[in-house]
Amino acid sequence: MQAFDSVCARCRRANEKLFLKGDKCISPKCPMVRRAYAPGVHGVAARPGAAGGKSGGGKGGSRGGSEYGKQLREKQALRATYGIRERQLKKYYALAVSKKGVTGEMLIQYLESRLDNVVFRMGFGTSRAHARQLVGHGMFSVNGRATNIPSFQVSKDDVVKIKETKKTKPVFTDLADRLANKTLPNWLEREDTYTAKVTATPGLEPHEMPVDVQMIVEFYSR
Ligand code: SF4
Repeated sequence: MQAFDSVCARCRRANEKLFLKGDKCISPKCPMVRRAYAPGVHGVAARPGAAGGKSGGGKGGSRGGSEYGKQLREKQALRATYGIRERQLKKYYALAVSKKGVTGEMLIQYLESRLDNVVFRMGFGTSRAHARQLVGHGMFSVNGRATNIPSFQVSKDDVVKIKETKKTKPVFTDLADRLANKTLPNWLEREDTYTAKVTATPGLEPHEMPVDVQMIVEFYSR
């Protein structure tokens, strides 16, 4: 049986695939394919909704069947998916509430607009964590300006590009091959191997949602 490393353990805790390790996540090597239950909990009976699964409030309630526990679990899964801290997620939620529109959709919009996420969605990074590292190392420009801030918010019509001086870095040697299998979201358009344009407001299609975002809105509005 495959072991969970520390990154994959986050999926195990969230009890769902969070896609934190690039290609491994869509291969049979993903440990969640074999074992989809939380750390310290064994077997099918421990899965939410399964007969005999644990429930309850307080600390242990996060994995249980209570409404609060479910909302907390969804919120933690969203944080793990985008690799952000609680403070950042709360900030995005506050911004989402202050905007016109559906709060859950606005929240996802802020997360999907992060430069590290855009770099991942373009296929330049193999996971969001990898993309964040690349951004931090100053590999990209946005509209011709060097940007090394992972939380930088991109907007419609922005052009994200691997900097001229970074194109020959070993991390990009197999880029063309990697991009050949990469499907872009409908708000991104590839201009060439090293460049993509944001053609619409970043977001997720309903079937792409990694979590029940409405539960997260309910969690924060308690
Ligand atoms: Fe690991 Fe990715 Fe599978 Fe999560 S989805 S367990 S990060 S391989």
